[in-house]
Amino acid sequence: MKLFTAKIAMGAAVASLALGLAAPASAERGGFITIGTGGVTGVYYPSGGAICRMVNQNRKSHGLRCSVESTGGSVYNSNALASGELDIGVVQSDVGYKAWNGQEPFQGKVTKLRSLFSLHPESVTLTARKDAGINGLKDIVGKRINIGNPGSGQARTAGELLEVCGISEDKLALAGRLKASEMPDALRDNKLDAYFYVVGHPTANIKDVATSVDINIVPLTGGCVDKLVSKYPYFVKAKVPAGIYRGVDSDVPTYGVKATIVTTSDLSDKAAYEVVKGVFENLDSFKALHPAFRILEPKEMLQGLSAPIHPGAEKYYKEKGLL
Ligand code: GLU
Repeated sequence: MKLFTAKIAMGAAVASLALGLAAPASAERGGFITIGTGGVTGVYYPSGGAICRMVNQNRKSHGLRCSVESTGGSVYNSNALASGELDIGVVQSDVGYKAWNGQEPFQGKVTKLRSLFSLHPESVTLTARKDAGINGLKDIVGKRINIGNPGSGQARTAGELLEVCGISEDKLALAGRLKASEMPDALRDNKLDAYFYVVGHPTANIKDVATSVDINIVPLTGGCVDKLVSKYPYFVKAKVPAGIYRGVDSDVPTYGVKATIVTTSDLSDKAAYEVVKGVFENLDSFKALHPAFRILEPKEMLQGLSAPIHPGAEKYYKEKGLL
């Protein structure tokens, strides 16, 4: 028995040593902070850029250097945060909730996940070629639909939608796995009938495709959507506003989540403090960097978070009376 416990203890020590050695550099080592985002035509990538801009303009006083990485999206970012490859990530609130609670597609709870703040709302957006005749979710049966690349938020969120609505992937002519930057060309070239994207509006991704092919955005409503929205705390009814994309002249009802900025407990209190300070202290210039940020309000940016607030961020919010 004694030997057994000693062996376990030694095994654990060796394992943690190995983990320590293998863990990639993270948590602002050398003052560097990397933010994982999404495809370059989405809103996450410019969001990361905007945050870094706010942080880097005070580099002289805090010594941090913030840089942005284009990635596969929310699920990828959550996993990369867990493994220490990223310091900060943009993550859909539903995906953050699954990571924190250890639900599918995550193998276990990502207990070191911490929130900084939330940004814009993202809606579950199904963009279709007009000539595909898709006017509601039921019309996707037999069609070529892009669900999303593995690692993306949309693959997770749309997968759950199809499951709850009883549309198994084998009922589709194609369940595509293209990444966000590839979806518009595939739609224009008639290789897809429609693609899911969980995204803020406006996004360059849909703006571009709407100028080269006639599109419609499909309303996502009905019993199964209602079921999802009433079952999960992170889903809300939403709409894709009229007048943003060519041919989309009235609001399209759907549902959605929030884009959240998350990190881990590995990030120092000082770095977390400086990041949120950079954004909140310069909120007007931050909001001017992307039209999806126009509606941001400080108090609302502390809502819709799926993991506990990082203590360094909390310190700043308490100082400012936001918490
Ligand atoms: N919500 C998408 C994802 O998690 C990314 C959207 C964007 O890049 O704006 O993969």
